[in-house]
Amino acid sequence: MNITEIPVEGYEMVKMAEDPAVGFRAIIAVHDTSLGRALGGCRMWPYASMEEGLKDVLRLARGMTYKSAVARTGLGGGKSVLFGDSATERTAERFRAMGEFVESFGGKYITAEDVGTSVADMEWIREKTQWVTGRSREDGGSGDPSPYTALGTFLGIRAYVEETLKKDDLQGVRVAIQGVGHVGIYLGQKLRDAGCVLTICDINREKVEAAAKELGASVCDPDEVYSRDVDVYAPCALGAVVNDKTIPEFKCRIIAGAANNVLAEPRHGDELRQRRIRYAPDYVINAGGVINVACEFLPGGYDEAVSLKKIDGIYDTLKAILRISDEKDISTAVAANHLAEEILAEAKSS
Ligand code: NAD
Repeated sequence: MNITEIPVEGYEMVKMAEDPAVGFRAIIAVHDTSLGRALGGCRMWPYASMEEGLKDVLRLARGMTYKSAVARTGLGGGKSVLFGDSATERTAERFRAMGEFVESFGGKYITAEDVGTSVADMEWIREKTQWVTGRSREDGGSGDPSPYTALGTFLGIRAYVEETLKKDDLQGVRVAIQGVGHVGIYLGQKLRDAGCVLTICDINREKVEAAAKELGASVCDPDEVYSRDVDVYAPCALGAVVNDKTIPEFKCRIIAGAANNVLAEPRHGDELRQRRIRYAPDYVINAGGVINVACEFLPGGYDEAVSLKKIDGIYDTLKAILRISDEKDISTAVAANHLAEEILAEAKSS
């Protein structure tokens, strides 16, 4: 395998690896390890060029640093991208090569599943390195992250409802959940148990019908979810759902869900603030999964009690972000970045 270092300003270590014999090409970016080893998933994607892959891995690695800092996982940020089509090119040889590449970082970078890769692919990586997370419960790992992501999201919704609607419980609060997949269904169960009035949507008809029955929820058309007359809109499907088209449609007071990259552009965070819609920054509210996975690296191994306690922290962090946003008159998205930068600066100076 041929490994080349790519110097990138602001990043601790970026390397590219190739092994033409097995069709392997990947980049690993370690952004920042001031708080601990760099954790971030391995994304498999058919990037059209080297530059495109590099741009993506750098953006994602930096995002992981911020996410882990605010979630106080005790880990830093990194990411890897594997060039290829996950539908046709997920071979054992490619993932074993990825394992060797991860191993070459000597524990500075820890990988996990991500878009285009699965838990099964991680097993091939594990043949070559111990620096991979997301093991099953049976294997002493942290298992499926979704229930923990949903728990953090639920706590975030509670924090925002308390601060915005001035209610100290969720009884009667109207929530629209967009997407009842892995996270959305667990979130729906928690909200139902807390007395919320639920509306759900999903592009998968069967899934939405089963979920509506289970949750006692009404169903709306996927395109109508933005304009529903609800207190909380909880995006749990796809990204870029807050954009120039959807913003004028919103009737909700709060946007708080598990989806990644909710804002189409950073300026949309400011627009929500101008409209007095309170947005829970995605990487803060959806950190329950990464917090749980990070607990695999506790000195005594994975411990669910520690994980749950840390996930509780999402509630206070989101309240702190609302405070910073009001005090500095900035969007909550910018406030979250300020908080992450403060935590990182503190770690670097100590
Ligand atoms: P999933 O694929 O299991 O569920 C997504 C659901 O959204 C599916 O049921 C899909 O049919 C539905 N959907 C897709 N497009 C839609 C549309 N236009 N309208 C309505 N529904 C639509 O994914 P998931 O694991 O539940 O993750 C949901 C979101 O949360 C993603 O953005 C993911 O990146 C993010 N997230 C997930 C985790 C986790 O632990 N799983 C952690 C952090 C962030």
